[in-house]
Amino acid sequence: MNQQWIELAYVAAAVLFIFALKAMSSPRTARRGNLIGALGMLIAIVSTLLSRGVVSWHWIVIGLVLGSAIGAYLATTVKMTGMPQMVAMFNGMGGLASGLVVLVVAFSSWRMASYTAFTVGVSTLIGWVTLTGSLVAFAKLQGFVLSGKPLLFPMQKLANLGLLLGCVGLIALWTCLPTWWWLVIPLLLMACALGIGFTIPIGGGDMPVVISLLNSYSGLAACATGFVLGNSGLIIAGALVGASGIILTRIMCAAMNRSLLNVLFAGVGVVTPAGEDQAERKPVTSWTAQDAAICLENSSRVVIVPGYGMAVAQAQHALRELADVLVESGIDVTYGIHEVAGRMPGHMNVLLAEADVPYEQLLDRQSVNSEFDHTDAVLVIGANDVVNPAARSDKTSPIYGMPILDVDKAGTVMVCKRTLNPGFAGIDNELFYQDNTAMIFGDAKKTVTEIIAALKE
Ligand code: NDP
Repeated sequence: MNQQWIELAYVAAAVLFIFALKAMSSPRTARRGNLIGALGMLIAIVSTLLSRGVVSWHWIVIGLVLGSAIGAYLATTVKMTGMPQMVAMFNGMGGLASGLVVLVVAFSSWRMASYTAFTVGVSTLIGWVTLTGSLVAFAKLQGFVLSGKPLLFPMQKLANLGLLLGCVGLIALWTCLPTWWWLVIPLLLMACALGIGFTIPIGGGDMPVVISLLNSYSGLAACATGFVLGNSGLIIAGALVGASGIILTRIMCAAMNRSLLNVLFAGVGVVTPAGEDQAERKPVTSWTAQDAAICLENSSRVVIVPGYGMAVAQAQHALRELADVLVESGIDVTYGIHEVAGRMPGHMNVLLAEADVPYEQLLDRQSVNSEFDHTDAVLVIGANDVVNPAARSDKTSPIYGMPILDVDKAGTVMVCKRTLNPGFAGIDNELFYQDNTAMIFGDAKKTVTEIIAALKE
């Protein structure tokens, strides 16, 4: 295919990617955005395959069939609660792809120009950092080999800084001496160590930020690889992924009221045993589903606050039915959605959309927080960290400063979860012990179903 047509096709794909990102910024148009993005990617892939650089088809076809089969299997079997791990894996594979492509370039063109050595070096650094960082993030989120807590050791920051400076030094050296292709080997090893070193001290509630940062890195690695290969499609797509990942990272940091540097280097998320002891000592008010039903039917305004436990219990359909029953009785029902509720950005929105909850009923944190002081009852379903008042008042708390949903300001707060155990950040929740709070212990779906039955009686 003529090179000019290929370039034109890349521009068309880039335009589709931009429209896709725009559409994906609202739940209403997200599905369409996904399709537009997929169409853009199809155009980019077909154009690349039609370019003159392709010399042998059989490896491409084998890779395509194998990759598609694995992707289709994972997409259909992954549970919603396992999505962050899957996204971590995707990021890692993106980094690996970029890292492998530039490795081939390094090994096959020993007499490269300084510019090529520089771009191959940058792509190697970002690609392999993304791979090992993502594998560590996957292991932490899955609880596989590593625990989700921060792993800290003395001189850790210094060691990471040393690795980073070492990598930058190697890239600079390679740029000056571009025939020293073998520099790619120590660079690759140091990049792998840096990816691990940078991710292991992060834990607790900070993992979402790391995932979106690694997502951005995978885009930047692809962008750098695009410069190596002179492929404008890869440069544009990589830059878009890199930029959107950084924007998401910023949004997540703002949602936690933390700076990125603090997230990356503070080692937040270590469980304090004192918090667990306290949880055992303090008395709480315990309600049955019948008590909750009585409270709800005597309310005129109810806010439902879902969290990770709703996803675990798959309680979204039951919750929708409960809201329908309440609305039919003339009660005003809305949902309060926190940006980092659940285990991935937009987790609650996706689940509630799956249960056909009308978008109009979903209120973001800012909107719903101004409503709580004139709300009669709040039903917290499997949320914990995102409603913890310690974030507002306890300066010693690891989540201090993180904006929360101010459910404690409502008339009555009903918290449905199985135990008094902490949530992802591993800290106790003062909300459970407040006078206006009642705990309804049990699985979220089972409890909500019982409340519906009690209301119907
Ligand atoms: P939390 O993790 O704070 O709490 C979830 C609660 O759900 C737990 O305390 C648990 O209590 C309860 N639960 C679990 N299973 C069930 C069940 N079957 N039925 C009822 N309750 C259940 O969740 P939040 O949504 O409040 O906060 C999200 C946390 O995750 C934040 O710290 C955030 O930073 C972090 N995070 C967010 C990501 C994102 O992108 N959104 C990604 C990764 C982490 P019990 O065991 O007693 O039932």
